[in-house]
Amino acid sequence: MGDIHRDGLWQGGWYRFARQIPSPHHGERPQGAVIDLIVVHSISLPPGQYEGDTVVNFLAGLPFETQDPYVQSVKDMKVSPHFLIRRGGELIQLVSTLERAWHAGVSSYRGRDNCNDDSVGIELEGLEDLSFEDAQYETLSGLCAAIAQIHPIEHVAGHEHIAPGRKKDPGCAFSWEYLQRSLGWEDRYFP
Ligand SMILES: [Zn+2]
Repeated sequence: MGDIHRDGLWQGGWYRFARQIPSPHHGERPQGAVIDLIVVHSISLPPGQYEGDTVVNFLAGLPFETQDPYVQSVKDMKVSPHFLIRRGGELIQLVSTLERAWHAGVSSYRGRDNCNDDSVGIELEGLEDLSFEDAQYETLSGLCAAIAQIHPIEHVAGHEHIAPGRKKDPGCAFSWEYLQRSLGWEDRYFP
């Protein structure tokens, strides 16, 4: 592990190769939290539409206009991952990994509840059960490796694994094998 404050890739939990759009949707991690889990999600707003910045503005707590009934129904939710990977692979960081981003909700994994306390959340722009782009896997894989340089990552799981029955993202079209191959991490890291 590198030093969080001196590693050239990172500055205070912000990744050098991400575009920063800070979101207020976060709080402090509990003292002594061991950040050993990466949670993979999927989102698009409106669902299935990948143009425009509605999803970015929603997660970043920025104002936006929408006529879409689904987007209107979730508009006031205060949620954000640490990172968003858009369809073309563009990486956006919304919350420092040192802070507790609000992405998981009620959840439990590796014997611990409240996964927001000690995980890093990554949203892939997409839809549950529809495939993701190669460029997204590339960005995701590089990002997971970079996160593991500053946090003692032991697990990578989907929202569906930490909140089974309640959440289904990223869904069956997400290839854990593809991610595992690109990372070269052992089976024990994966769901
Ligand atoms: Zn999710």
